[in-house]
Amino acid sequence: MELLWRAQATHRAHWPQGDIELATLLSVKTGGCPENCGYCPQSAEFDTGVKAEKLMNVQEVTQAAQAAKDAGATRFCMGAAWRAPKDRDIEKMSELITAVKDLGLQTCATLGMLQSHQALALKDAGLDYYNHNLDTAPEYYSDVVSSRQYQDRLDTLRHVRDAGINVCCGGIVGMGEAPVHRAGLIAQLANLSPYPESVPINSLVRVPGTPLADSEPVDPLDFVRVIAVARITMPKARVRLSAGRQQLGDAVQALCFLAGANSIFYGDKLLVTGNPDVEADTQLLAKLGLKGTPNQTTTETACGA
Ligand code: SF4
Repeated sequence: MELLWRAQATHRAHWPQGDIELATLLSVKTGGCPENCGYCPQSAEFDTGVKAEKLMNVQEVTQAAQAAKDAGATRFCMGAAWRAPKDRDIEKMSELITAVKDLGLQTCATLGMLQSHQALALKDAGLDYYNHNLDTAPEYYSDVVSSRQYQDRLDTLRHVRDAGINVCCGGIVGMGEAPVHRAGLIAQLANLSPYPESVPINSLVRVPGTPLADSEPVDPLDFVRVIAVARITMPKARVRLSAGRQQLGDAVQALCFLAGANSIFYGDKLLVTGNPDVEADTQLLAKLGLKGTPNQTTTETACGA
């Protein structure tokens, strides 16, 4: 309770009362990813029923972005399941980003690992935010992913920062990690200099066919603790309840808001997993006296792809 009080006090000192950002996301290139993130249904290594699709074209994406704008969105996020985009992928993404920007929307993307020249190209195309998650603490990382190193993630985050793009970076709770690993994740995030503008905290969605499908569910109160510590250590970040909100229920979500969460993923679907429906979210926010601000931004379970 002491942690909740402190988190709420920090929250009130930095954010307007009751303001919740509503974030949504379009998967512009789904599935077929060569990475082996143990939580992810989009990995080509796991049999999850997610089919690999091609990158969407400019018309399809602009149509979706326009619809989002008409619904009140101010930012539009595009996710693609790549390990690390090739330069020709960056060219195609740059076209999409410029087209979305031309509609008068802020832009956000999550495309996997970036080299510095690629981050600069995306910035030139008009990218405002980049999502790339650290997933967990460095000490637990090899239990979750073996196809890349923690340092690879940190390098991409540095390239994004150096290019002048805002950073969205968080992780996942409920992958079998110990409390010390959750603390380690938050410590990593809070010690990025500067810390991310957006911090998505996911509760693992246990997708059948993924290696982490049988993970022990996290105690909901431990999830709330993670939110509270994120708020206290990163007072000016948007702390986002992301994947796995469906399984938390209204009461735990209310505690998360009390602990300082001020952004939620909104809409029926994240990249490939389910999300509470819009009607249920509207009712929940109304019941709690919170006000949603539409804003299309990023992140499903981790990645950055
Ligand atoms: S989380 Fe991202 S990098 Fe990992 S398998 Fe999924 S799409 Fe690929």
